[in-house]
Amino acid sequence: MPTRAIHNAGTATKRRARTPRRRRDPIGYRESRHENLPHVVKFSGGRSSGMLLFELLERGLLDSSRGDVIVFNNTSAEHPETYCFVEACRSRSQPYGIPFFATEFQTYEDVHRGQWTRLPAYRLVNGMPRSAGNPDGFHWRGEAYEELLSWSGYVPNQFRRTCTSRLKLEPTRRFIRDWLAGRPGIQRLGHHHPVPQIDPQARFRIHRKHNGKMPEAVFLRRHAYCWSRPHVRPQQHYRDLCPEWRPFSNRRADNGEYVTLIGLRGDERRRVDRVRARGGHDTEHDGEHVYMPLDRIGIGRDDVNAFWSRRDWDLNLPADAGLSNCVYCFLKGGENLQAVHRRMKHNAGAEWPGFGPLAGTPCDLGWWIRMETEYVRDLAAENCQVRSGVERIGFFGARKASYADLEQNRLTGAPLRMPPRCDCTE
Ligand code: SF4
Repeated sequence: MPTRAIHNAGTATKRRARTPRRRRDPIGYRESRHENLPHVVKFSGGRSSGMLLFELLERGLLDSSRGDVIVFNNTSAEHPETYCFVEACRSRSQPYGIPFFATEFQTYEDVHRGQWTRLPAYRLVNGMPRSAGNPDGFHWRGEAYEELLSWSGYVPNQFRRTCTSRLKLEPTRRFIRDWLAGRPGIQRLGHHHPVPQIDPQARFRIHRKHNGKMPEAVFLRRHAYCWSRPHVRPQQHYRDLCPEWRPFSNRRADNGEYVTLIGLRGDERRRVDRVRARGGHDTEHDGEHVYMPLDRIGIGRDDVNAFWSRRDWDLNLPADAGLSNCVYCFLKGGENLQAVHRRMKHNAGAEWPGFGPLAGTPCDLGWWIRMETEYVRDLAAENCQVRSGVERIGFFGARKASYADLEQNRLTGAPLRMPPRCDCTE
């Protein structure tokens, strides 16, 4: 039983002096040398990965001198309560001395193959919303998400999950690469001109040269938001964002290897199997050795809820509301999205304490409708060979429901044809 498994792990911890370390903790290292590699805890901002984080901290399984670090990726489309929970976990983890960082997707301008262009990167953000007085704060009105759509030109869908890869996986990999370099921060990226240098017409000519078929007006409109964003990724010092940061010796990580710890539960078989499939049985990927301790010791949703019921802080969202991750994530499925909308429509015009009005943000279905309208792939307009009946590819793929349909179906009660639940892998 999962609960017994937790207790067994705790009993094993008490036998520390007599038991070899790889047998006594819930991580279950596949190779003993992995225990000495830097450990990266991928914290998604949900209850499961929060439980994993505090189990690791409270059992003393993380070590700042080994280069261990906690990372959260901000999509800028999460619920305000998720941001509050992330900040609570960040501040409660401080006494353990393990650095905790949040990354956010951004692009910067530079020359690539002799032309000015925008390149993908990330920046580090602190625990408060961004404002004029807090330039290192996090975005929560969909800015990073829209920058990605504007940069790539299209919305993601279940077969082309650019949001997962560009907003979560890549920023984490880039951050880890920087982290393992052992420097005191991340370097400035971008040119030194005071203003952006991109010539939209030149970018459109390049689009055409590469057989792009988007009409000029559509091309320019789609990329305008990205080109209006900050054109430099500033230099950032770890200590400015995380007072717990200390230099660490990364000699053991010279070959770029590290351990990642992911909070997937034992009852999330499909997600666990997909992470496993990413790199074969041992889930090795670019020097990454992935471990899923909650799955390993059979922790399920009830165990996670029981864990948080014993704490004096928690994610202040109903456990069954489906509001974690991006609020209206297209992978949550028709029924869940209907339920999300029933809850969120009452808040859409409200002001969230500490944040501001939710109207026009990813907490408002209108934001998702706008994203889909502006960045949908219109095959007819692009003169693409149109397969029978396929004219547009939106968040829900070809010939599937749209966010506008979601709003209308709420009115008519008609069923939505949508893919299954959100499966955004940390
Ligand atoms: S939660 Fe959904 S919308 Fe957000 S990054 Fe993941 S797959 Fe994309």
